[in-house]
Amino acid sequence: MFRLLSTVALLGGFASVYGQQAKDFVEPCGHTAVIEHLEKKYPGFKNSYDRRYIETIKKGQGIQKRKKQIRDTTYFYDSVFTVPVVFHILYNNSYENVEDSLIFNQVEVLNEDFRKMNADTVNIRQIFKPRAGDAKIKFVLAEKDPNGNPTNGINRVPTTVASWGSNGVNNNMKYTARGGVDAWDPRKYINVWICDLTLNGQDRVLGFAYPPFGHPFWQSNVFVSDPEQGVVIHYKCIGRNNRRANTSVLLASNKGRVATHEFGHYFGLRHIWADDQFSANRCLLDDYIEDTPLQGTGSNFTCQKTRNTCVEANDAPDMVENYMDYSTHECQTMFTKGQTDVMYDALRTFRRDIIATAEVEVTTRVFDTVIYDQVLIFPRPSESVIVVELTKEVLESTVNFSVYNSLGQKVIKEQELTSNETYFDSRKLSPGHYVGVLKNNNQEIKKTVRFIID
Ligand SMILES: [Zn+2]
Repeated sequence: MFRLLSTVALLGGFASVYGQQAKDFVEPCGHTAVIEHLEKKYPGFKNSYDRRYIETIKKGQGIQKRKKQIRDTTYFYDSVFTVPVVFHILYNNSYENVEDSLIFNQVEVLNEDFRKMNADTVNIRQIFKPRAGDAKIKFVLAEKDPNGNPTNGINRVPTTVASWGSNGVNNNMKYTARGGVDAWDPRKYINVWICDLTLNGQDRVLGFAYPPFGHPFWQSNVFVSDPEQGVVIHYKCIGRNNRRANTSVLLASNKGRVATHEFGHYFGLRHIWADDQFSANRCLLDDYIEDTPLQGTGSNFTCQKTRNTCVEANDAPDMVENYMDYSTHECQTMFTKGQTDVMYDALRTFRRDIIATAEVEVTTRVFDTVIYDQVLIFPRPSESVIVVELTKEVLESTVNFSVYNSLGQKVIKEQELTSNETYFDSRKLSPGHYVGVLKNNNQEIKKTVRFIID
């Protein structure tokens, strides 16, 4: 597994995306700065990082092994988790002290994008429409602060620090002692720091975030400890239609989707092109997500629907619609089902403390909360079975189990469960998404669980 503690903070990906470091260059996400910093501190870092990664993949283990790790811990409940967010606004002057309205519309954007409720899903190309996913994660402004006092989830903190931009790692905004503001317990809140990320007057980095500690899509040296967990957003890019986003690149990033992208990282997602733009074969690495097409480089603030940087089997063009690309916000309209599954799983496994305090909305009718808590359904690919685990209490009533495919067709006929652990043969199920359904004697649905066979 992973080492418990790493002192090296890294946002993932390889070297600078565009290398040239042009003065007016803007990176939507802060990879460049962090990796350049590491290279300075540990000369040769970029090379070895790149090489190690490719070697792993070449051995044919990398992706499969990581996917298996995820799958082995993957079982899904049809519930929407509502998680509290606190926005720390660190301001050096009134212009940086962004309005409440921007925070409110930022939460709206996050909720629309994560729940696939954004109006611009109509712009998704036909080929990708069936792949768009709902992460079933909902965000609300925190209502109680760490001391249990009421709050509106917006924490305004004046600072004497004029800018937090840096060519290297800079997590200073996350520490009161360094002029920033300490995180609220990162196991209970998602912390968002809004601050000035300009460097020498240039808007260089629009935001950054770290993946969950231990997530298998990432190398252990990207993990950071609790006080630094969270999302940082440049104050000019917070919310939708921020009046401070007044230059071309910022205007192209003015639909509140810097946060959508960074929250994607926070829940474990990698960039859609796998950050391998500097390797000899840019199409070698995958983002470990099966329903995103291979992509060679990020879409540098463009929206080219003809873009196709990797030609693969059953070829699809680059998914410029994806929030984890570097396309314009106008262009970005979706996470894929694979991505939303991974994020949902990351919340339930790696960030489970947050959902321990979250409100759980069960979207399927569940008549008995005891049953909800005491049933597990999950595929075990190594044995080609679907496992249904029940507690003794549940078995005291009649419980039937069946499985439907994504078209709603029953693929495993109803069968009464009579044991604490029942195995169903999954060899006949072709790769795809399925729903396991538990019903009682009266044909009432007690529980549904989505799972993937691949
Ligand atoms: Zn990013």
